[in-house]
Amino acid sequence: MEIKEKVSLSDMTSFKIGGEASYFVLAKTVDDIKEAIIFANNKKIPWLVLGSGTNILVNNEGYDGLVIKIDIKGITGLKVGAGENWDDFVSQCVKNGLYGLENLSGIPGTIGASPVQNIGAYGVEVKDVIESVEVLNTECLVLETLSNKDCNFGYRDSFFKRPEGKKYIITHVTFKLKKEGKLNIEYKDVRNYFTEKGIIPSLQEVRNAILEIRKGKFPDLSKYGTAGSFFKNPIIKKEQYEKLLKKYPSMPNYKIDELNVKIPLAWILDNICNIKGVRRGNVGVYEKQSLVLVNWGNATSDEVKKYAKKIAISVKQKTGIDIEPEVQYVL
Ligand code: NAP
Repeated sequence: MEIKEKVSLSDMTSFKIGGEASYFVLAKTVDDIKEAIIFANNKKIPWLVLGSGTNILVNNEGYDGLVIKIDIKGITGLKVGAGENWDDFVSQCVKNGLYGLENLSGIPGTIGASPVQNIGAYGVEVKDVIESVEVLNTECLVLETLSNKDCNFGYRDSFFKRPEGKKYIITHVTFKLKKEGKLNIEYKDVRNYFTEKGIIPSLQEVRNAILEIRKGKFPDLSKYGTAGSFFKNPIIKKEQYEKLLKKYPSMPNYKIDELNVKIPLAWILDNICNIKGVRRGNVGVYEKQSLVLVNWGNATSDEVKKYAKKIAISVKQKTGIDIEPEVQYVL
């Protein structure tokens, strides 16, 4: 295992933004991670875990510590190394006739990152299909197994994002998938896709459909500097929504529970803030999906943060809704 010095992080993030890490290591095994943590502890520097960098915004000043890129590979049954590519695994499961992950097709990132933000799409969240998560406790360098419940999953949220979860590094994820499953094609875009085609889809056809729908809406990470959806869709109180409806009668909502509803933020950005496709310097709102911010040139982390803040202020002023980034800031 080689610990490198002064490694540029911009190429390791899909935003293509970020300065240098003082130290960088590619961890292929659990022992590599342990060694890396010991190195950081000895040097009294902080460490940071990186998957494939598709959901982070790294500061242009860089990271004054050790970046540990998790590259643990291997699939044993349904236990998968944290460094495996998410969509390759989804593809493999679908080919093998295993139900559960098909709606999560095409999401960029690694297996190890999937529980952190409880990735979700088209009515499925990864929490629905996770059996357990194997983690390295970095305080005592011992492996532990966390149950689905231990992960305390929420909407694009989990225990791993909170202070008490920060000491754990995910090394493997074990999934629970079914040989005989039920397809979920309830989301509008998916339902319309199959209604137009006039077919009752197979497992593989649902994956293909999701890939096609996503292609039409989300930017291709190999062509654009972006971290996908920049903000979370806000969940607000029903009363607040009812008040907003008086002003904006066509504002959509989705029921969360008896007290709360989720609002598609893209609708607010398109219809109330009118910022669809708007560019500010090197940063812009993606024209096909306003939740996505794009680095159109040599955008800096500050430019992105400033524009994101401006958007959040505009949403707050016009609707009273507080929004928060889904993308993690690396300071
Ligand atoms: P969309 O399908 O237009 O949905 C926009 C918003 O409305 C989302 O908050 C979505 O909830 C909600 N929604 C739509 N139909 C719903 C239904 N039938 N029941 C409950 N809620 C519903 O969103 P999009 O931008 O085209 O994205 C497609 C899917 O990919 C969405 O599920 C989105 O959340 C997901 N996505 C996830 C990530 C990520 O995990 N980082 C990034 C990009 C997109 P949900 O968010 O709960 O689905």
